[in-house]
Amino acid sequence: MALILDGREVARKIRQELKKEIGGYLQRGMRNPALAVVLVGDDPASKVYVENKRKACKEVGINSMVFNLPENTSQQEITDLIGKFNGDPEIDGILVQLPLPSHINTQEIIETISPEKDVDGFHPENMGKLATGKSDGVIPCTPLGIWIMLKHYKIQTFKKDVVVVGASNIVGKPMALLFLKNEEAPVSVCHINTKDLKSYTTRADILIVAVGKPKLITAEMVKEGAVVVDVGINRLEDGRLVGDVDFETLKDKVSAITPVPGGVGPMTVATLLLNTVNAYRKKHGFPPHPLTQV
Ligand code: NAD
Repeated sequence: MALILDGREVARKIRQELKKEIGGYLQRGMRNPALAVVLVGDDPASKVYVENKRKACKEVGINSMVFNLPENTSQQEITDLIGKFNGDPEIDGILVQLPLPSHINTQEIIETISPEKDVDGFHPENMGKLATGKSDGVIPCTPLGIWIMLKHYKIQTFKKDVVVVGASNIVGKPMALLFLKNEEAPVSVCHINTKDLKSYTTRADILIVAVGKPKLITAEMVKEGAVVVDVGINRLEDGRLVGDVDFETLKDKVSAITPVPGGVGPMTVATLLLNTVNAYRKKHGFPPHPLTQV
């Protein structure tokens, strides 16, 4: 049976540590870190994600303000609101929950967020810093959360064959860039136009799957003893939440695997807290949290 990479437990430890850190700031008479969250429309999954983030912020002492705007909010109204947060010295981080309604130009919205307050790390300036190996940018939460979890479990990454399935801007691409940073490991990135997916996945020492298709990865597609990270979140018709990986058939073949739920999801939220505290630290002249230094 594989080692289960328990994201819930690692995330709990990170929250505990951040709570202590923020308590220390308050004792010194400093203010709480603050995060502004913009949610547009009524997408039920987005509401759950925002609520999880709000609760996690509250637990550690980050003041989070959720701005829930109606579905028909215009591009200009969102841009104006972000402009207000950009100029507010009491707000450290700004998060716009994705996806946005289809009439909104998402990339343009991302680019209006001031890069220092971009706690999701999606701004081209932050992505560019990651791509060019600079260490003073913000790294997107899900890939950084996965990285922190692998390090927590002392999983060797150096010189390993890494395969990332999924090439989105928010997960797949920055995940691959993290492994390229410092030339840690060679990475293959697969996507919808990959001809023979199995020929890639079967050679992976570390396989990271971020697609959004239940059971895309089956046992015969993985190498014996591989480490498998399942980013996918899929709601089945019976209401169950599953990943992209056929967990039941893989768990006896691989050496370590993340469950869904309870694997990558909690780490994404914990990393959002780290990125928000980092924005606060930077403003106060403190170095970034060591866990976020890749
Ligand atoms: P996306 O839709 O933006 O990108 C999906 C990627 O998968 C694309 O690159 C696409 O080319 C590729 N793809 C689609 N079908 C494929 C196939 N058959 N074979 C190989 N590649 C294929 O998705 P995303 O935003 O990156 O999210 C991916 C999944 O991860 C979703 O289920 C999402 O809900 C989940 N997610 C989870 C977390 C978390 O914290 N656990 C965070 C972000 C996203």
